[in-house]
Amino acid sequence: MEECKVRVERSQAKKEKPDAQELVFGRVFTDHMLVMDYAEPVGWHDARIVPYQPITIDPSAMVFHYGQSVFEGLKAYVTPEGEAQLFRPKKNLERLNRSNDRLCIPRVDEEFLLEAIRELIALEKDWIPKAEGTSLYIRPFIISTEPFLGVAPSHHYKLMVILSPVGAYYKEGINPVKIAVENQFIRAVKGGTGEAKTGGNYAASLKAQEIADKSGFAQVLWLDGVEKKYIEEVGSMNVFFKINGEVVTPALNGSILEGVTRNSVIQLLKHWNIPVIERRISVEELFEAHANGTLEEAFGTGTAAVISPMGQLSWNDKNIVINGEKTGALAKQLYDTLTGIQYGTMEDPFGWIEPVPDYQKLVEAVSQAGN
Ligand SMILES: *Cc1c(COP(=O)(O)O)cnc(C)c1O
Repeated sequence: MEECKVRVERSQAKKEKPDAQELVFGRVFTDHMLVMDYAEPVGWHDARIVPYQPITIDPSAMVFHYGQSVFEGLKAYVTPEGEAQLFRPKKNLERLNRSNDRLCIPRVDEEFLLEAIRELIALEKDWIPKAEGTSLYIRPFIISTEPFLGVAPSHHYKLMVILSPVGAYYKEGINPVKIAVENQFIRAVKGGTGEAKTGGNYAASLKAQEIADKSGFAQVLWLDGVEKKYIEEVGSMNVFFKINGEVVTPALNGSILEGVTRNSVIQLLKHWNIPVIERRISVEELFEAHANGTLEEAFGTGTAAVISPMGQLSWNDKNIVINGEKTGALAKQLYDTLTGIQYGTMEDPFGWIEPVPDYQKLVEAVSQAGN
């Protein structure tokens, strides 16, 4: 077992854990969080697991004014044997550093951060819900904290990792949703920050989402920012279409977020010898495919929902129903396989699973020695 490199300050009071049936996304947080600071010239330092608590930062902290921040989202799962495990966490930490590069935030040591996250999960293992479809959502994020109103990269940052037990995304199995093609607002453009996981992208997406919500749509389908012709993403998910036996997903073009689920779906399809292609796809092509009966399935992919089928799609005055508004066979197969691997009930031929060793005793020993 590796040596513990993270200082641990244990919470004195333990919160009550929510009932697995009543879990909602992102409302309840566990007893501890991971914190690390960045200052020049020392760099990232003082990694510590401390009781979950509010933080104090200066009102002039740069993040409040110019939005220099990045985040990640992944999950910890518990297997039927009671082991905690992570799904492709290295991909998330690589992406965190790509987001960092785009936002002029100093890179983090991916191996060290993964180790620190493992220790946090091990300490909070009892918080991973066990009911079917539930998991512990992991939210690493970095904010700029230097008290300064100048438009420039900050010299100080804070990294935090907070954990939230989350319920089954679909209470009654996966359900196809209604989607509206967004013609007015744009999520991201090539050269902008679309491929970085940064708060500003989500702030910019709220208006379209709000309008779509009022008209009874679950999400919007984003088009490219230049021609408003080509499909980019759906809500905050990547998107796939099965047309005439072939699976198509928009190619990464600089404005699309490279999802870990997207990458996993592509690998699974290749593994199953199902043709999959990354290319530009226009909304017009999609509606034509529907008209000539070749649009078989459409679904979004992301960590939160895993696979989210589209039942209806609206574009201007046209509305199409996809696959009779039922979950397609491919969407179902992908969902079952991904969740099977994530929860350890299916074999993982790809090496996607990272176990979380039981550091509990080690953490305890170190924390007592440090007292
Ligand atoms: C996080 C995110 C995704 C999905 O990424 P996963 O790694 O699969 O969770 C897709 N699009 C956007 C805009 C996102 O923020």
